[in-house]
Amino acid sequence: MSQSAEQLLKQYYGFLSFKEGQQQIIDSIIGGRDTLGIMPTGGGKSVCYQIPALLLPGTTIIISPLISLMKDQVDALNKLGIPAAFINSSLDYFEVEERFFKARRGQYKLLYVAPERLESQRFLALLGSLNVSLVAVDEAHCVSHWGHDFRPSYLSIASMLQELNSRPVVAAFTATATPEVRQDIVGLLRLSDPDVYITGFDRPNLSFAIIRGENKRDYLQHYIQAHRRQAGIIYAATRKEVDNLCALLQKKGISAGRYHAGLSDQERMDNQEQFLYDDIQVMTATNAFGMGIDKSNVRYVVHYNMPKNIEAYYQEAGRAGRDGEPGECILLFSPQDIQIQRFFIEQSTVAPERQANEYHKLQIMIDYCYTSGCLRNYILNYFGEQTFGDCHRCSSCNDDRELADITVVAQKIFSCIIRMRENFGRIMVAEVLKGSKSKKVLQFGFDRLSTYGLLQEMTEKEIVDLINVLIAEGYLSLTEGQYPLLRLTGNAAPVLNGQANVFQKVQPRKQAVVVDDLLFERLRLLRKELSARENVPPYIIFSDSTLHEMARLCPTDKESLLSVKGVGAAKLEHYGALFLEAIRNYLQEHGQNIGIEEKKPATEPLLKEEDGQIEDAQLFERLRTLRKELSAQANVPPYVIFHDSTLHEMARLCPTDREPLLSIKGVGNARLEHYGAQFLKLIGDYLQANRPK
Ligand code: ADP
Ligand code: MG
Repeated sequence: MSQSAEQLLKQYYGFLSFKEGQQQIIDSIIGGRDTLGIMPTGGGKSVCYQIPALLLPGTTIIISPLISLMKDQVDALNKLGIPAAFINSSLDYFEVEERFFKARRGQYKLLYVAPERLESQRFLALLGSLNVSLVAVDEAHCVSHWGHDFRPSYLSIASMLQELNSRPVVAAFTATATPEVRQDIVGLLRLSDPDVYITGFDRPNLSFAIIRGENKRDYLQHYIQAHRRQAGIIYAATRKEVDNLCALLQKKGISAGRYHAGLSDQERMDNQEQFLYDDIQVMTATNAFGMGIDKSNVRYVVHYNMPKNIEAYYQEAGRAGRDGEPGECILLFSPQDIQIQRFFIEQSTVAPERQANEYHKLQIMIDYCYTSGCLRNYILNYFGEQTFGDCHRCSSCNDDRELADITVVAQKIFSCIIRMRENFGRIMVAEVLKGSKSKKVLQFGFDRLSTYGLLQEMTEKEIVDLINVLIAEGYLSLTEGQYPLLRLTGNAAPVLNGQANVFQKVQPRKQAVVVDDLLFERLRLLRKELSARENVPPYIIFSDSTLHEMARLCPTDKESLLSVKGVGAAKLEHYGALFLEAIRNYLQEHGQNIGIEEKKPATEPLLKEEDGQIEDAQLFERLRTLRKELSAQANVPPYVIFHDSTLHEMARLCPTDREPLLSIKGVGNARLEHYGAQFLKLIGDYLQANRPK
């Protein structure tokens, strides 16, 4: 063996050390053993078959479920200087022939194929003429009925293996750890006495949060606006919801796209492409989006609805932070989500025992949404991992805010539900408590109930939200069906009797929000101008904390500006228009198009400290712009050129020649050759202009 796996990792990928499990899996494959690697999304499975492919003679065949994924991986490999190609339905007859010709001459180390190809006799004959030393099955859970993305053509893999001249080593990879799926992979792929490696499922750079009882739309808008220069995925349960959310975000000036099975192939492909290329910032999608989305700089994944089980959740949420930088995984829970998922299970035509299994998994998912324990531990324990101590970073662990005592309000709600004989849904109950004169309320004579108008001071929406909290906390439940009715649970009685109190936790929104310094600066300047003009001190106009909140929430209309602390009706009247204009202008210039270079004020560069090293945010932006240009030229997504984390490190270390550049994580020989000069020049020029000695 001329080179060791570790040398290749450095030389091609620019990584200094293996991630957990990679070395063992590679050794096992090189040692000629069938191997099953179970690693979480983002755990680094690709390297586990790509490095053996380089070390072994002949060609490695990779079975990969998605055309877009194949193209991405092949692009990335070619950029690393590794000869690879794919064969799938996007090619015509002659292109396939040509690739086979090259493959027979040993010109590819890796050949990616879609599983459907294996159903063609002709293709199998062609495969038989190659020297195949390794077959790698990516997303191997697709072979199992129990997995969530069953692909019938994966069943052809076993027969393909028999067509080959000599049986190659077979390696299978998945992020799904359930025993049923594991057994299916070993059995249906006919792995022979495989070595099985299960690496830890922990993703330490991800943080988890559950948001309950909040208005989801408001939350989402605030969240995205506070993260407006970052890429994120919003998962929703239905196509219709995706359409609505996408339209809503677009209307708010956020660059959002959508993805679901109801769109044409072309539209889906275009939208996915735009997202991968950082041309749109937010992807709203059903669970149809994602298998094999290798985009590494997804900074957050928000589930607008609860998904069907923990496996699906962890896989989808795991698409955040593949580059190892922080990622946020937020689940916006409301009780309707349960109804939606129950409905999906009811509608499905699977065998009864599988249906029961699905209900069981759903219940575990629901419990996750209600748990007050550490969320990370909950997930890891589900995957059979022992945990030691809480993560101190999830919304459960961090939920140390003061609890508001809402016993009296809860009593009013419970007693109203009882008086309405537990025969109505949330809206009606809220209307009665509000004291509404709606036709239905009057028709039932509810205006004569003693609870009528008891919560007059609240809005109907606030009452409904509070009812949702009480459901989430287990005091109320909803019946099944299209029009769920409110029922009291056993927990409500002691509250009504005055034996127990009810507290409301205010979910931490703080951590989800980043103050935008540039916008704050701009608002401060505006305040200064006004203060000079009116000859009053700036804080009389708005306090710093008000400006900070504006910079965080980015209100663009009067109503949302009014909800900022410190903005009352009078100030809204006086200053509202000017501040709104400033915010809107700012958003237009900066926000939504994350590929666009920031026009920063000509003040000193913004510096951010991390691990004692100072990162220059302005330099980072420049690097990002250069990457974007190169990505457009080369027609590959930006992260194929360099990951965000690599650019961050460049902005911190400011290398000015090849040697230190090569020492940065993610810079290997091929990338250095390809892009090194341009990035070095940029950094050099930047340093000269900004930091004269
Ligand atoms: P998976 O297929 O398991 O979801 P990938 O193979 O796509 O994960 O890898 C996830 C990310 O981790 C990629 O950005 C990849 O470049 C990076 N990565 C893989 N191996 C290493 C390593 N040894 N050191 C640092 N980063 C790595
Ligand atoms: Mg993968």
